[in-house]
Amino acid sequence: MSRTYNFSAGPAVLPEAVLRQAQESMLDWQGCGLSVMEMSHRGKEFVAIAAQAEQDLRDLLGVPESHRILFLQGGATGQFAAIPMNLLAGRARADYVDTGNWSKKAIAEAKSYCAVNVVATGGSGDPMSIPPQANWSLDPEAAYLHYTPNETISGVEFHWVPQVDEVPLVADMSSTLLSRPIDVDRFGLIYAGAQKNIGPAGLTVVIVREDLIGKAMPATPAVWDYRRQGEADSMLNTPPTYAWYIAGLVFQWLKRQGGLEAIAQVNKRKADKLYAAIDGSDFYRNPVHPTCRSWMNVPFVMAEEKLDERFLTDAKAAGLIALKGHRSVGGMRASLYNAMPEAGVDALIAFMRDFEQRYG
Ligand SMILES: *Cc1c(COP(=O)(O)O)cnc(C)c1O
Repeated sequence: MSRTYNFSAGPAVLPEAVLRQAQESMLDWQGCGLSVMEMSHRGKEFVAIAAQAEQDLRDLLGVPESHRILFLQGGATGQFAAIPMNLLAGRARADYVDTGNWSKKAIAEAKSYCAVNVVATGGSGDPMSIPPQANWSLDPEAAYLHYTPNETISGVEFHWVPQVDEVPLVADMSSTLLSRPIDVDRFGLIYAGAQKNIGPAGLTVVIVREDLIGKAMPATPAVWDYRRQGEADSMLNTPPTYAWYIAGLVFQWLKRQGGLEAIAQVNKRKADKLYAAIDGSDFYRNPVHPTCRSWMNVPFVMAEEKLDERFLTDAKAAGLIALKGHRSVGGMRASLYNAMPEAGVDALIAFMRDFEQRYG
């Protein structure tokens, strides 16, 4: 089979080196005679795999001792509910920034638990943009401030971190975690579904400041109570062992790439190239203001919408797959997560130029 490049928004491309490692150990992990899939999560082999993955993630992100890392299930969507259940701590209100589809879903879920104050609405209009924090109406009594650093569907990304004083900052980093260094200390809680930039679907990473743990509403299900999961090392019940293992291999791969500083440079270069190709043509267009264009998800439309099907068919024939835009946006979307090689972006740009010459 010839080389293909997978631009899916998620579940997404994984590093080829990681898939090969998984293949090699599929039937027999390090001579123990078992696949990782078949191991007890309480056995010393898997406990070591899990602990190593946690340590590698801690190293990569520079997670301070003040913050706990949890490996959970239920996706980012599960956290939309778990966050108010755990963090309201008796308060009646929470602040949310609305910058697109995922913000809206988080807001809708939180409304079952508290009064939601939408501090600002962005991610609409043409070009799409993010309202500056000076215009936000923050509530000093809010239990926390929630935002979505990267809106996976529209490709709107914060390239700055909101400034908060006492109110804990909560971030849905599903499609941006590990794309660049971050200062974890500035966040009360960071969460991410793994299937974008971390590993296979089924695993959810939560990084939460210790002082926010232990205040869950009494009705909180045990599996979503950060205190109970923390005390059980995220093994209150059977965790998603294989996804956790593969995520661990991805963390080691990232370390071999030089860590987050190094991968951030590659990510920026990949995104800059693609945006430059789009901006340099009258045929393609990206609808996001240059100050908040995502490094990870790049939507684009063509001058003539009726060419979309042809573009996708021809791209697939050229080995460039999963470029269809989200149904709510239309057009195309190229997701450029860490595991997308720069050569894949070069191949996409060459294909786009060729397509424009044929149909533009
Ligand atoms: C994909 C995604 C989600 C949903 O994740 P699930 O794991 O499917 O629940 C939520 N937020 C963002 C920003 C996403 O990209």
